[in-house]
Amino acid sequence: VAQTTNRRANNMWHADTVWLGSERLDEDVNLEMSQGVIASISPRSSATSATHLEGIVVPGLVNAHSHAFHRLLRGKTHRQGGDFWLWRERMYEIAEDLTPESYEEIATAVYVEMAMAGITAVGEFHYVHHQPGGASYDDPNEMGHALIRAARRAGIRICLLDVGYFRAGFDDRPLHPYQERFSDGRVDDWLDRVDRLSASYDDANDVVIGVAPHSVRAVPLDGLHRVRERVAESRPIHIHVSEQAAENRDCLEATGMTPAGLLDEAGLLGPMTTLVHATHLTPTDVGAIGGYQSGVCFCATTERDLADGLGPASDLVEAGADLSVGSDSHAVIDLFEEARGVEMHQRLRTGRRGVMDPAILMRAATTGGARCLGFPARGLSVGGAADFVVIDAESPRLAGLDPTSIDSIVFAATAADVVETFVGGDRIVTERGHPGWDAARVALSAPRN
Ligand SMILES: [Zn+2]
Repeated sequence: VAQTTNRRANNMWHADTVWLGSERLDEDVNLEMSQGVIASISPRSSATSATHLEGIVVPGLVNAHSHAFHRLLRGKTHRQGGDFWLWRERMYEIAEDLTPESYEEIATAVYVEMAMAGITAVGEFHYVHHQPGGASYDDPNEMGHALIRAARRAGIRICLLDVGYFRAGFDDRPLHPYQERFSDGRVDDWLDRVDRLSASYDDANDVVIGVAPHSVRAVPLDGLHRVRERVAESRPIHIHVSEQAAENRDCLEATGMTPAGLLDEAGLLGPMTTLVHATHLTPTDVGAIGGYQSGVCFCATTERDLADGLGPASDLVEAGADLSVGSDSHAVIDLFEEARGVEMHQRLRTGRRGVMDPAILMRAATTGGARCLGFPARGLSVGGAADFVVIDAESPRLAGLDPTSIDSIVFAATAADVVETFVGGDRIVTERGHPGWDAARVALSAPRN
């Protein structure tokens, strides 16, 4: 990402329509960029020469929850029927075949697809750390470095959420052979490895290293306490929570607490922690998560694909939680659909329309995601990163709609309407094209078993 290069001359851009964070979009705005940052925002003055951004400009979309290699399952698991747990078996088989080289190629391809969908930063929930069987690579962080290289090749920012995974379930049964690649054995060994990974990217503004205890299934309570002691507020913390009713049932049986209750017990609820899915919650869970102003990340297209259920997103936001969205398993990579999906799922859950404010949904797909990944979450504002997207206001989806209404974007735009994507002031997608797409298509088509 060129923002690290510090060599860019001043640039003036003229946007037809731009979302600066309020209910309505502004028209005819000049955006001045300097060294990858927005230097000024002003009404258009005809005296200034500016490059035209033709369409609707919104802040870069932030994909807060990704497992890059799951993209290989797209379109291939429907006919197996079953549930989440059967799907997981197929996913484990694919994880078993990954090498640092193949993972980098696949992830680069997926991140190129993201860039073309207007995504400028991704939270990669990364758990395939070691060799099949569990032995470390020469560099125990080789897989993590491969993912970070992939994001840089695609031109987007990455928060690598390094996952800790220690057991197969609450009864402390041994890891499934497929899960041995995920485990560092001991919680402190995992966190030591993360510290070493992080030291390689101390000065980078395109990389954040976060931690992700995989779930309360995979990390016991004393491990969650250890995360609290060692990580505290220094890094983003993400965790899968209550995606499946079975997790709640097993957790209650083993501990007497719900998964969210267990996080509360461990001192892990709070603004630095993001609960991914948060689907099967009790009213007490909702109150605690919101009361601590924790983050919640909804992944509507995956949650419907995996038949997870409908989480109480609107209740969580009302209680004080900070919303973000992610494309998770990449059945679909379209953050407009993710943001819209949160509202649509609330409609199915409550029997009412218009449950959530569209500006909240759009913030979830932009600044909400940036905040939960530990990037500056300033949107399009002076001093904020020049990460933004140009949407075609005349596309078949958007033609005839009011381009100054946030509702038009939230309820009608799709990833296919993204014409240009800028990261740190650099244009990485031009006329819907990315220079890495041809290689990406080849990587995604490579034969696999
Ligand atoms: Zn996930």
